[in-house]
This record gives sequence, structure tokens and C-alpha cells, in this order.
Amino acid sequence: EVALVTGASRGIGRAIAVQLARRGARVACVATAAERCAETVSACGEAGGEAHAWGVDVADTSSVAELVSTVHKELGGLDVLVNNAGITRDQLLLRMSEEDFDAVVATTLTGTWNFLRAAARPLMKSGGRVVNVASVVGLIGNPGQSNYAASKAGILGLTRSVAKELASRGVCVNAVLPGFIATDMTAGMTEDARAELSGSIPLGRVGSPEDVARLVDFLCGPGGAYITGQSLIVDGGLSL
Ligand code: NAP
Repeated sequence: EVALVTGASRGIGRAIAVQLARRGARVACVATAAERCAETVSACGEAGGEAHAWGVDVADTSSVAELVSTVHKELGGLDVLVNNAGITRDQLLLRMSEEDFDAVVATTLTGTWNFLRAAARPLMKSGGRVVNVASVVGLIGNPGQSNYAASKAGILGLTRSVAKELASRGVCVNAVLPGFIATDMTAGMTEDARAELSGSIPLGRVGSPEDVARLVDFLCGPGGAYITGQSLIVDGGLSL
């Protein structure tokens, strides 16, 4: 089994790559530069699997197409695609620049579409699995994140549409929606904001990258065989 994971250098993507490697997948780890995935590649090795690193800007459509075909050739197929790369550029609507809106949409939403289109043929051949990492923010919204929330909500519609398009070829396409997960993306929050937010999570703690990775692993394994077009929330009850 060959799995490609974007945003695999750190955080949630790193945990997903390691989890899939543990299950025996050969993992293509993708980040902005191959060197950034060096630690993930060795963690995959320690987990008993095999991983290779590539660098690309997920927003660059033609480079993504080239990368997917290289991975397909070098690793001998493509069975699993995890679209996890994403960025935030938070600002209230009235203060948000067009650049901040466009940058988040380009990386988070267009990046996901770029990989889906480039990988569709190999995935149709293998009857593969796709997991798109969205966010509960795409459902419930968040002040200061209009760009990010729009991108993540877009991923949900993209997921359902592509699930319908590829179902006849046996490809399952789902979205996972993490809540508040401890990674670099959320590290910038103040202690007070963190305490307030974690206090509002019914399960009483911030999530770990592994909490998300285990759900992704389930969807990519035998348990995911009859699940497609779904949006699965992994947020400790945050969005309830
Ligand atoms: P993170 O720690 O900030 O890591 C982001 C990853 O995306 C890195 O591997 C980064 O690579 C990669 N990336 C960013 N821009 C890229 C680009 N243009 N081209 C290629 N790779 C790019 O983020 P995270 O918290 O693990 O989040 C992972 C995903 O989960 C994101 O889609 C995020 O929106 C979503 N999510 C996170 C949370 C949370 O609470 N953390 C909640 C809900 C959803 P480099 O290292 O090379 O920069």
C-alpha cells in the first residue's frame, strides 16, 4: 500500500504518516520542502514502516501534478491520499487583506483539489481511499477565520462531490473535522485563550495529533470500506 500525506512534516500530518507507516504503508511525506520531512521519515522507520520525502507548494497545480506522477512511479502505485496541508492567516473581516484571504484558500482548498485531480486516475485504478482534513470551523465558523472557515467548508462540498464521482470506481472519499488540536498551528494562542477553550471542550482536554491520526487510519483501513462522502468530527465534543 502506498499512501501520500501532505503537510507531513509536523503536527497532524506527521502523526498520520507515522500511523499509516505502522500499519505497513509505504508513505510519501509531502511538505513545502523535502528536508522538512526528515524527522517524520525517521519516525515512520522507527514505527516499522517506510517513508520518503518530497517538497512542493500544494497551491501550485502543475507542480502537484508532476509530484503525484513521480511518487506513483517511484513507489509503484497510489492507494491512499491524505490532504492535510493547511494554513491560517487570522484577521477580522474588516481588517483582512485580499492576500490573506487568497493565500489561505490557495493552500487549504485549492491545494486539496490539486491533489485530488492529480491522484484521481491512480486512485481509480487501485480503488483507493482519500481523507481530506477539514475543521469544525468549516461547520460552526470562528471570528477572525473567515478565510479559513470558507476553505474548510469548501473542502466538505469538494469531498461529497468527488465521493459521488469516484464511488463507481470503488474510491472512498471522506473528510475529518478536528477541533482544537495541540500543534504549531494552535501554539500561538495565549495561555488564557487555551485555558478558556479547553474548558469548553466536553471531554475536558485539547486533542492530540494522534487522536486525529487514529480516525484517518480507520478510514484508510478495512473499517472504512463502506464509508464515503462523510464528514467525521474528532473534537472531544467541542462543536456540540
Ligand atoms: P501545522 O502544524 O501548522 O502544519 C502544517 C503542515 O502543512 C506542515 O507540514 C506544512 O509544511 C504544511 N504546509 C503548509 N503550507 C503548505 C504548502 N503551501 N505546501 C505544502 N505544504 C504546506 O498544522 P496542523 O495543526 O498539524 O494542521 C494540519 C491540518 O489540520 C491543517 O489542514 C489544519 O487546518 C487542520 N486542522 C488543525 C487543527 C488544530 O487545532 N491544529 C484543527 C482543525 C483542523 P512545512 O513544515 O513545510 O511548512
